Amino acid sequence: MKQTYTVTNPDTGQTADIVYVHQLCNGSWSEITQEHAMALLADGVNIMNALAGMTVEQAHDRLVLKGSVDYGKDWYATVGIRRVEKETKEPVVKSPSTEKSDPRIIRLDCGHVVFSPMHVMHKSTGESCCPTCHSRLEE
Ligand SMILES: [Zn+2]
Repeated sequence: MKQTYTVTNPDTGQTADIVYVHQLCNGSWSEITQEHAMALLADGVNIMNALAGMTVEQAHDRLVLKGSVDYGKDWYATVGIRRVEKETKEPVVKSPSTEKSDPRIIRLDCGHVVFSPMHVMHKSTGESCCPTCHSRLEE
């Protein structure tokens, strides 16, 4: 389960959904909790000249603005944020209503769909069917 947080850009006031990450000594990034990120920043304001005199909140503002902040002297000692898409996004599933509104898709009485009026066949009963079903009837 992805742990996402909403942060506010201190310059623009815009909010963004993010995950916190920190860099591992092998160079890859790993997701961490906000508590963990704040703890790293708390280290950073004590260790790093660039963060000297900042509160943890100010260091966090800097992280939001810059996307990453070094919290220690090791090359990989970096905490970052990654934007995430809102989880409320509808899953991409084709619903019947969108198929109907797509003029290329024709749903037939046999239950199949064809993509051109040229492929619409009709049974003797008048029901529409696809060429496959139609040829099966002919057999
Ligand atoms: Zn069919």
